[in-house]
Amino acid sequence: MEVNVLHKYLHEIRNLRIDRAHGNAPHQPVLLLSIIEMIAQGQITENKIIPSPGLVETFIKYWTKITDRKPKLELPFFHMKSRSFWHHHPNSGYETALSVVTQIKSFTLLREIIAYGYFDEALYLLFTNTETRDIIQQTIIETYLQDFKEEIYILISEEKEISEYSQKILQQVDHTFAIDKPFVPLSAKKRTRKNGFRRAIMRIYTYTCVVCELQILTLDGESVTEAAHIIPFKNSGNDDVRNGISLCQLHHWGFDMGLISVNEVYKVIVSDLMAEKGPLEWKFTTLRDKGILLPENREHYPAQEALAWHRENVFRK
Ligand SMILES: [Zn+2]
Repeated sequence: MEVNVLHKYLHEIRNLRIDRAHGNAPHQPVLLLSIIEMIAQGQITENKIIPSPGLVETFIKYWTKITDRKPKLELPFFHMKSRSFWHHHPNSGYETALSVVTQIKSFTLLREIIAYGYFDEALYLLFTNTETRDIIQQTIIETYLQDFKEEIYILISEEKEISEYSQKILQQVDHTFAIDKPFVPLSAKKRTRKNGFRRAIMRIYTYTCVVCELQILTLDGESVTEAAHIIPFKNSGNDDVRNGISLCQLHHWGFDMGLISVNEVYKVIVSDLMAEKGPLEWKFTTLRDKGILLPENREHYPAQEALAWHRENVFRK
């Protein structure tokens, strides 16, 4: 039974619609590879594929290995509905719009209309099983991405390492946070460590600056936010997620310069030792006493020990 189900879907997947008229543009295979990766890494845990920043980032990562053309996630996300296994769930109020629309021309519009996409339950089950997932992944690569096979497999294995690193630091928060006991869970390459830390922090704070709560993502996957170590890695060697926060580039600079910090009750403190001019809403001093954005999970809260170190050693007072 299961073998038949697998074969049925492999057949469908070998017959995706590819825009061959415009050079290499395997949107649908790349979307499927991206979703497969996110399921494998625990970033997608149910049969609701949300057009999220994480999906955009993953999609672009594969896309740029294959072509210089502009990535357009909205195309496959929408048009894959011509395959019997892919369905859409509209945002409330957009039920009628979704039933009549024949194309969606921007990612913003896609997010407005569609809450999530989902697979036939039987196919989703195949994606959650490591063995069948690998077979499907391999089929997609062999069928559509033969010429890029090597790069794609390298990418998949590097991503696996990054993901392992980020999973470890997200999960291993059962130990007491200690400044003198730096936490680095695996001996990893610098690139893996950096990306793994970033991924964990972006997952906790969903690409949003904890200070100003700005979230800006470009359609090619860049984000204004950066994963900041509270005690710099060069001082602490500490990749504990509680030694991290997500900051936009401006507030990352201000934090590292010691112009802003965070107090014992997670409110912003601002240094008096600077001169600033400009519109009130953009000034650092306006942020004084504002509560920072905190993680959903209490275990991931920034460590007070780390913040105390920052106030003591970096903050200008
Ligand atoms: Zn900010």
